[in-house]
Amino acid sequence: MIIIVANGLLGLAAPLQAQSDITVTQNEALVDFPQSVTFQLELADASDVASVSLVYDVDRLSCLEANTAVPVELNGNRAEWTWEMVRSGNPPPGATLSWQWQITDRRGNVTTTPGQSHTFVDDRFDWQTVSAPNIRLHWYEGDEVGPMLLDAAVAGLDRLQNEMGITLDSEVQLFIYEESNDMRDAVLYIQDWAGGVAFSDYNIILIGVPPRIAESWGKPTVRHELAHLVIGQFGRSCVGGSRPTWLNEGLAVYAEGEPSESIQEDLARGIENNSFEPVRSLNGAFSSHGPEAGIAYSQSYSVVKFLLESYGQAQMQDLLLTLAQGTGYDEALEAVYGFNVDGLELAWRKSLNLPPREIPPTPTAVSAQAVPTIEPFGLPESVPTETAAAATAVPPATTNNPGGGICNLTAFPLLLIGVGLVLRRRK
Ligand SMILES: [Zn+2]
Repeated sequence: MIIIVANGLLGLAAPLQAQSDITVTQNEALVDFPQSVTFQLELADASDVASVSLVYDVDRLSCLEANTAVPVELNGNRAEWTWEMVRSGNPPPGATLSWQWQITDRRGNVTTTPGQSHTFVDDRFDWQTVSAPNIRLHWYEGDEVGPMLLDAAVAGLDRLQNEMGITLDSEVQLFIYEESNDMRDAVLYIQDWAGGVAFSDYNIILIGVPPRIAESWGKPTVRHELAHLVIGQFGRSCVGGSRPTWLNEGLAVYAEGEPSESIQEDLARGIENNSFEPVRSLNGAFSSHGPEAGIAYSQSYSVVKFLLESYGQAQMQDLLLTLAQGTGYDEALEAVYGFNVDGLELAWRKSLNLPPREIPPTPTAVSAQAVPTIEPFGLPESVPTETAAAATAVPPATTNNPGGGICNLTAFPLLLIGVGLVLRRRK
């Protein structure tokens, strides 16, 4: 691992003279990404110092603002503290770390060092960057890959804006690895099958895209993951709201653009054989692999398309915002469209000229409490004291899986434990 010195005062000619008599002679962070960050402080004279603490944070979207100071023992005139990301899970490349030291003297005067920051870099590769408004895309393999995927991202954002009226509200960064193995090495605790991961808290997406399938698989996958991130921002909930999986995935597939051949075939087959799943059964997580998962995505796309094209953008936004308030799935649909998920299914089937599916006679009213608590967009939003980041993973590209955009919903919380510090949370 290459150690990066996130420069504090290194290289500056004069040491910092803070208020009171504290003189800082060294203040830096040694970054061993993605393993650890070691913060080091050295004072010219620590004889008057009573205590030292470190305040650090990683820039991310958050429901809670919680900056907690870590007390650090002073050893002579030096203090050192290591954030072991090996234990806590690491922020993605592109995320920005900031820190300050608070030095308290024996009279109780507190000196705070100027805020410093460091952006995590995966320096195993020689990154190039292309950008468009609100998007920065980094890649290192295949000259045409970066511009091609940037175009896809721009097209995806345009579609979200034009068809759903939803816009990205802060800059997103995409890191395109040549293959998913490379990507996985940048993220501790990632599923060994993952081919992409969206860190919605950080507005950062990592995807492994082999250049030879950048066009066929990379483009729709970029649009799909970007849609998750943008919709996640728009429908962000700090009160435990969640979205049914059919809605999340349907919107993301819709954002990919014109439906692929395999989606069209799934739908044609579903109509011909009258073999669609009950929409209610698509509220929770899809099976992660295999043809059933593919069909669930195709069906979700069709349901979302129906909602968007029959009722319009404003209602879809209203639905997302109502769900964000913590409203149950049926109640939110009722409030916005006047039908629950079974009524939605009836109307959607009618639009496809399908007969009503037989709904079990006692559809137990699904209250908000009874709604599956599986987080389809993979974050512990229902936990009010968030200390966890979360990410959504997408299976890797393979030659056998050119369908694109299929992402597994498994969440893996990167628990920030053992750091003695509550970091702000989340995408
Ligand atoms: Zn997805």
